[in-house]
Amino acid sequence: MVTPTTVPGPAHGDSSPHPVLRGTPVVPGLAYGPAIRLAQGVDEAAIEAFGTGGFADTEAAMAAYDVAVGLVTDGFTDKASRASGATAEVLTASAGLTRDKGLRQAVETRVEDGADLLAAVKGAVAQFVDVFTAMGGLMAERATDLLDIEARVVARLVGEPEPGVERPEVPSILIADDLAPADTAGLDPEVILALVTERGGPTSHTAIIARQLGIPCVVGCAGALQIEDGTPVLVDGAIGDVDTTVPEAQALARVEADAHERAVADAWTGPAQTTDGVGIKLLANVADGESARGAAAAPVDGIGLFRTELSFLDRRDEPSVDEQASLYAEVLQPFGEEGHYVVVRTLDAGSDKPIAFATVEDEENPALGVRGLRLSLNNPGLLERQLDAIAKAAATSSSETWVMAPMVATVAEAADFAEQVRSRGLKAGIMVEIPSAALLADRMLEVVDFLSIGTNDLTQYVMAADRMTTDLAHLTDPWQPAVLHLVARTAQAGQRAGKPVGVCGEAAADPLLAVALVGMGITSLSMAAAAVRRVGAQLSAVSLQTCRDAAEALLDAPDPQAGREAVRRVLAG
Ligand code: PEP
Ligand code: MG
Repeated sequence: MVTPTTVPGPAHGDSSPHPVLRGTPVVPGLAYGPAIRLAQGVDEAAIEAFGTGGFADTEAAMAAYDVAVGLVTDGFTDKASRASGATAEVLTASAGLTRDKGLRQAVETRVEDGADLLAAVKGAVAQFVDVFTAMGGLMAERATDLLDIEARVVARLVGEPEPGVERPEVPSILIADDLAPADTAGLDPEVILALVTERGGPTSHTAIIARQLGIPCVVGCAGALQIEDGTPVLVDGAIGDVDTTVPEAQALARVEADAHERAVADAWTGPAQTTDGVGIKLLANVADGESARGAAAAPVDGIGLFRTELSFLDRRDEPSVDEQASLYAEVLQPFGEEGHYVVVRTLDAGSDKPIAFATVEDEENPALGVRGLRLSLNNPGLLERQLDAIAKAAATSSSETWVMAPMVATVAEAADFAEQVRSRGLKAGIMVEIPSAALLADRMLEVVDFLSIGTNDLTQYVMAADRMTTDLAHLTDPWQPAVLHLVARTAQAGQRAGKPVGVCGEAAADPLLAVALVGMGITSLSMAAAAVRRVGAQLSAVSLQTCRDAAEALLDAPDPQAGREAVRRVLAG
């Protein structure tokens, strides 16, 4: 166990000349090195020299546009062919967006109306950005991708190189406003030690690709771009601190200690239990068969959250029961071993995860609207068909299948859902994401077999802070005491009922918080497979009593920062 170091307070209200900046931590790990800021945009002089482009007519202007689009698309496709997994998918999606017919049409219409080509490209992209932003959630985060495409197309039109990350001469901390997929995909972890962006949330492409590359990453860090190139920076991707004040020797010692901790974690193979033998189920969060097969290679006891809606984000029509069943079977299949289980979540469509065939359109306030289980109010067949498909998949596999509903608010909803699930011979549970479900946890457990706390939404609803809003990242922090008190209350209800209560939100992947969650009585933690070893290694270094002490100290803490420090103190003994 590494001796924790006291981390200085967040920048909010800090008047010192060198404040420690605080962003949203997305990939844990410590890194120290000189800052290098990403130069964004195309050389203004080249844009000026290009002027209107001097095209004879719309056809000539659009021919130039098509050539530029072709070059940018080829660049994305080429990078995608050299990447894998999420990175390749993201780059392929960018290639598709570059060639988008609707975007081309919007450019052409503007040129026909008399705009010069560069203005037409800008205007068309701005129109698409507005549409994406208005859609909110995951779509809004794609606005950065569009702006990146605009910069690349403009660069190609004026004969400049496409903007992007240049390989620094010495290993550095890359600081940017936000990173586009193509920027992030080409990053070399040998020379980019950490990523810090001023914008972007935990689901931005920066975060997704940094997670895959294993580069420590902090997003939504206001003020980061004011750090001058060459300034030594310590980035803590577990906490979100970006610190230019730490003396070099101290920073290097912390980085070394972190590297040691990572090495211990990498070598950890399970089982997940405290030093006194209390077992905790460590599970993976997955989106499809591919991620489930990947997760099976990690030391996990199964899947704690299969987000079924993620398989259907690009589908216009509801897949048939048979098609759904074969998709679900792919996720169940790798976990047939005795003692393993898979928790399938029914569609959580709506709000940040819009799905064409399910989501209610034009809601004023989709996060508080008809999402998750509520979709079955007006469309009961949607849930019934999905449950039939899950049951069909379960029947073809030897894995134990549990099913849970998202966004449950009342005991009646839980009871009705449980009846439908059990009538198909499966174990029934609900997610605790709405404060009412946590407050009524005892009664919920009278009607279901298990609970799984979704700390992402629970935090959003307890703190009345949109989980996608960068400016509110300090409120959407699962270390907020009000959230933790509801988690503890839910865990205690589980202990009284003798039924499992897990955590499947991002909080479960935080090794420090995991200790306190186990101390509260949480019985399983479900997270990205890449995070499992670190959490497992941390838990196997502490006793149940230490976990309980950590939970008690945490629940007494007045704010997230004090909570983190309190748990660190308990761990330091
Ligand atoms: C959560 O809300 O914590 C959760 C796990 O669900 P999602 O992130 O998919 O909304
Ligand atoms: Mg949720």
